[in-house]
Amino acid sequence: MTETYVCSNCHATVTRPFEIRSIIRTCDECGTNGRFLHQSLVESLASLPADELPDDWDALPLDKRFELALKRGLIQLTRG
Ligand SMILES: [Zn+2]
Repeated sequence: MTETYVCSNCHATVTRPFEIRSIIRTCDECGTNGRFLHQSLVESLASLPADELPDDWDALPLDKRFELALKRGLIQLTRG
């Protein structure tokens, strides 16, 4: 079983044989050392109602979108 993680910066993906919320690594594609979010979180972020989101939402890296959505109560964490 493999789980997919998405680079916050360039949305490149990597797979890992375990499932956690996010991993920290240096991206092979963009060279950024940062957070890769689990694909299910990225899908949650993509399904949020647009009128609840700030104007610069699309310009934010995925980890910033995640923090903001959590802060606003737009997503709930159902997994550890
Ligand atoms: Zn990247």
